[in-house]
Amino acid sequence: MKKSPQTALIHSDYKPPEGFAAFPPAIHHASTVLFSSVSAMRAGLWKTKHGYTYGLHGTPTTFTLEAKLAAIDGGRFCLLAPSGLAAIAMVNLGLLKAGDDVLLPDNVYAPNREMARWLSADFGISARYYDPMIGAGIAELIAPNTKLLWTEAPGSVSMEVPDLPALCKAARARGVLVALDNTWSAGLALNGFEHGVDIVMQALTKYQSGGSDVLMGAVITRERALNDRIALAHMRLGLGVSADDAYLVMRGLSHMQLRFDAHDASARAIAAWLKGRPEIARVLHPAFEDCPGHAHWQRDFRGAGGLFSVVFDARYTEAQTDRFVDALTLFGIGYSWGGAHSLAVPYRMQAMRPGWESTGTLVRLYIGLEETPDLIADLTRAFATL
Ligand SMILES: *Cc1c(COP(=O)(O)O)cnc(C)c1O
Repeated sequence: MKKSPQTALIHSDYKPPEGFAAFPPAIHHASTVLFSSVSAMRAGLWKTKHGYTYGLHGTPTTFTLEAKLAAIDGGRFCLLAPSGLAAIAMVNLGLLKAGDDVLLPDNVYAPNREMARWLSADFGISARYYDPMIGAGIAELIAPNTKLLWTEAPGSVSMEVPDLPALCKAARARGVLVALDNTWSAGLALNGFEHGVDIVMQALTKYQSGGSDVLMGAVITRERALNDRIALAHMRLGLGVSADDAYLVMRGLSHMQLRFDAHDASARAIAAWLKGRPEIARVLHPAFEDCPGHAHWQRDFRGAGGLFSVVFDARYTEAQTDRFVDALTLFGIGYSWGGAHSLAVPYRMQAMRPGWESTGTLVRLYIGLEETPDLIADLTRAFATL
């Protein structure tokens, strides 16, 4: 058919030659997905991922990323969300309804706690909190209407490593689903499913991206029926991710293990050095004995990555420890982690965790990819300002 110039701007008969091959996955930008015929359109099944229906429900780019992420965590199904927190919301809204009860660890990622507060204030879902070190004792907290048990291994500020197998065993005995926020280990150092977890959540914003430049989250499962319940929430909430962001995360994945191991080695060297400093009362790093649940880490984990906390000696005021953080030059002050740059954040634990025992300030450190001795020199300089 002959086309007028205006239509020719939009419709072209050109087809690039087939057979193109390259390592990077293609970036498919799409809202509308084209069907070959009306009957193909009517057959569209967005849930099975055997075809494409709409950009929001997946493209070859997002399906490829989902498959890679499911494999890293040892799962079968994966759903992407525009942030780690959106992934948490997808789990909660997919699995909980009015009248249900959810249990969260006391050290849970703070926005997850805030969401639970909202669910209980406005949605008729009760949210209760447990000591992250409770282990098998969780059985006593499980109520007939408890449907979901959140776990985090370790807590991303106070670093307690829970007894995951004991929590999962008690939950399974009562038919309660267990969700693990596995962001700290990126799925590289801990396989949640091996220990009995039903759902793994990842903030891809961290190590998977590796660039401090993308926000994304994932929910990974092994059972199709469970995936489908969460997928329904994914669809109903309209959660989608951009093709460019998905590409950036895939780009980060190929060297994630190398980066993770480098963060791990440097963080352990710095944690060991900090342990010898008179200013520091406790090093909360799962690979060190000071850390609650260290034995669980030894038993269940294969590595540690770059994130840990220290507690300053109680003789230092908050003003002094703030000055310490302000004095750091190689450590940025800011939330999140997983990129190449080191970070430091002081937390007010007494306000965050009623019953928190240490009185000294807790400072969370993220060890980036800078040279370890340079970071130690920076910390040494900052200690001098105390
Ligand atoms: C960062 C983080 C999240 C949330 O990820 P965002 O992409 O920032 O929303 C959830 N859990 C933990 C443990 C995190 O560190």
